[in-house]
Amino acid sequence: MIDIQSPITTEPENSQSTTALMQPASLCTQQLLFKDVTPESIQDVLPRCVERHLAPGDILLHRGDVNEHLYLILTGKVSIHLENLDDPSLTTLGAGECVGELSVFDGMPPCAYVKVVEPTILLVIPCDILWELVNASPVIARNLLYKLSRRMRSSNATLSDTLQVKDHFEQAANHDALTGLTNRRGLEVIFSSLNSPGRQAYLPLSIALIDIDHFKHFNDNYGHQAGDAVLATLGQHFKQHVRTHDVVARYGGEEFLIVLPSTALQPAIRVVDRLRQMIAHQRVQSEGQELPSVTFSAGLSEWSEEETLEQVIEAADTALYRAKKEGRNRVCW
Ligand code: GH3
Ligand code: MG
Ligand code: MG
Repeated sequence: MIDIQSPITTEPENSQSTTALMQPASLCTQQLLFKDVTPESIQDVLPRCVERHLAPGDILLHRGDVNEHLYLILTGKVSIHLENLDDPSLTTLGAGECVGELSVFDGMPPCAYVKVVEPTILLVIPCDILWELVNASPVIARNLLYKLSRRMRSSNATLSDTLQVKDHFEQAANHDALTGLTNRRGLEVIFSSLNSPGRQAYLPLSIALIDIDHFKHFNDNYGHQAGDAVLATLGQHFKQHVRTHDVVARYGGEEFLIVLPSTALQPAIRVVDRLRQMIAHQRVQSEGQELPSVTFSAGLSEWSEEETLEQVIEAADTALYRAKKEGRNRVCW
């Protein structure tokens, strides 16, 4: 620890400033900013800095306002708010941390609000004095770089957390809670990428619409919960028995839609008919009860280049309607 004997003056215009002089002077030299700095190198410059005392609720920095100071927190705590002061704080900073340094480095206004949380004493280092300090001691420059890189790491960690939360919500918004499959919203996203100019890469592409047979009857006999168990099991089986890049979506209540890229109609019919046979023999357990198997009907259509996706789905729907009419438990196209 170095000991600067000259007093640090208290910022005169601040009504909340105190007259404590010597203690903050020695206090400030214990901070990381002055780590390994020789007392002689800063003894002329540092005493020209002022200290400032703030109370909880005071606003130290306003986003977008001019700032020409680096504030070193000697004691107390401040919170950082990105868009609005009322927003939850991004983080809090305590003794030894700096605020305002980015404005000093790039001359731009602060990009966040800084609000005082606890009674706080700051060492106020004006822009020109900071550069004098840097010129006087390369160690201060190194310490500043260290602080800056720590700040960047913390920002990166925050960004990464934010992206994870965003991913989580996007995942939840695009997936169906019961089956875990892509939902209608997720399908829209997939369709819009399929409709892109690069669609050629996915062709030939087939689409299957699947609808469980007499499911209302099944629900009536075994209960809605048993019906849910059937839907979840079917969804799992569909997903397990198609290729990883095929998309299985829950299209509606008891309807599924499967997108089979790089698959012409005939192989797609074989895939869906294999699923149909498998499901017809699949027993489902629900609350310890073994339920009878269900069957489904399916309609398929291959996407020809001149059609829109909506037209392909419509064609698959027409084929599904025919499968129902012709007696169910079958695949039509
Ligand atoms: P069809 O063979 O003509 O398709 O007959 P269906 O009874 O399956 O057709 P309908 O459209 O008349 O009924 C669909 C039924 O699917 C009605 C509804 O109770 C059931 N269903 C839709 N969504 C869910 C769900 O999330 N859970 C359960 N358990 N049942 C659902
Ligand atoms: Mg239906
Ligand atoms: Mg049905």
